[in-house]
Amino acid sequence: MNTNDFRKYAHELVDWMADYWENIHDLPVKSLLPPQAIYHQLPVTPPTKGVGFEEIFQDFQQIILPGVTHWQHPNFHAYFPANASPPSVLAEMLTATMGLQCMVWQTSPAAAELEQKMMEWLREMCGLPETWEGVIQDTASAATLCAILSARERVSHFQINQKGFTEGTKFRIYASNQAHSSIDKAVKIAGLGIENLQKIGVDENFELIPAELEKAILADKAAGFVPLCVIAALGTTSSVAMDCIAEIAEICEKYAIWLHIDAAYAGSAMLLPEYRHHLLGIEKADSYVFNPHKWMLTNFDCSAYYVKDKGTLIQTFEILPEYLKTGVDAQVNNYRDWGVALGRRFRALKLWFVIRTYGIEGLQQIIRAHIRFAQFFEAELQKIQGMEILAPVNLNVVCFRFVPNVNDSEKTINEYNAKLLAQMNDTGKVFLTHTKLQEKYTIRAVFGQTHVCEADVVRLLDVLKSCLF
Ligand code: PLP
Repeated sequence: MNTNDFRKYAHELVDWMADYWENIHDLPVKSLLPPQAIYHQLPVTPPTKGVGFEEIFQDFQQIILPGVTHWQHPNFHAYFPANASPPSVLAEMLTATMGLQCMVWQTSPAAAELEQKMMEWLREMCGLPETWEGVIQDTASAATLCAILSARERVSHFQINQKGFTEGTKFRIYASNQAHSSIDKAVKIAGLGIENLQKIGVDENFELIPAELEKAILADKAAGFVPLCVIAALGTTSSVAMDCIAEIAEICEKYAIWLHIDAAYAGSAMLLPEYRHHLLGIEKADSYVFNPHKWMLTNFDCSAYYVKDKGTLIQTFEILPEYLKTGVDAQVNNYRDWGVALGRRFRALKLWFVIRTYGIEGLQQIIRAHIRFAQFFEAELQKIQGMEILAPVNLNVVCFRFVPNVNDSEKTINEYNAKLLAQMNDTGKVFLTHTKLQEKYTIRAVFGQTHVCEADVVRLLDVLKSCLF
């Protein structure tokens, strides 16, 4: 494909992209195809000779699109959102076109310096401690792995990096039983052993109980374990429960334990000063992650990871082969040493475009509207007899179930709600997912899609009511 062809097709695609967003309501939110339907439409072997773009794009529309779940559909209420937005997509077009690989400063000084500045902007926008330094990771999972590895290296004086696990020390890691599975994964990868991840009990709001955390730490110390790291959740995945950072931070300080805060989703709400009370005590934390790629209009992937002490982070990951040395290493941020991967995409550009397009006030307006939609939805649910709200609506997620008959067993109610959810999703008009809270099958409705508006909330309510049986 030469540049003339590229120009022609790129213009056509931009029109297609704008049409896609404009007409997205006409598409089924969740792909309704059965497993393997796409796979079997694809040729068994790769093509020997190339074909024209028209043919490829036709296949994209006919084969691929029906198998797409439309994350940018305003009635995508599943999981947590992965926001896209026009300025973010424009930045991604430039990023893809330039095809930079931003492993060290000299591989693109603009990428390194824009990343440094964007992390400073975000830190200020979200009320995080001024002395913290940040780096963009691909995902919160990667950031949490960085935190646990840094904690491991700090406590072992970097000897585990050096010699491996030689002393037979058994470390313990703590998180609530509502914490995200990325923590389990990170504990496994870090070689700490999943049996050493202590899941701490939660209260009726699904928040970690600090007294139980301290009890577990003391019991572990008495049994000869070394408490290594506590991971507090600002916004759990199931119900957006907010652990009390102030109390947890005090315990971590008392026993000299690394405190990592997983604010992957709810971190975007810290753009709103009225939610910053959740950050009380944050200056005692060692690390913090939140994902602009979830709820801050920035295309996946873009995860903001902050640390109190960048020296520990860098010492944990630093590797300096001759072929990567440059003359300016002492003066610049070489982000390859701030995480696992060497190669890095130019992710800061889309943040810059997003923040400048909307401004702090524009982003605040959108996030506040999403929270209002959840409150409206909750209020409407409360008018329906038999509807139960199963967790506090802290931000923009409503956890609920329907109890058709109070005399039904929990098993019957669970089965009913699983069917209800399937029926709603089968309409193609909405897409929601579920969790379990206190063994109750729980339907989650998330209102975080970039373009969701009140009419979409009404549409969801209509679908829900029409599916009750
Ligand atoms: N932490 C929480 C609380 C989450 O909800 C999620 C994903 O939804 C993650 C971590 C993992 O995020 P990522 O996909 O960026 O690794």
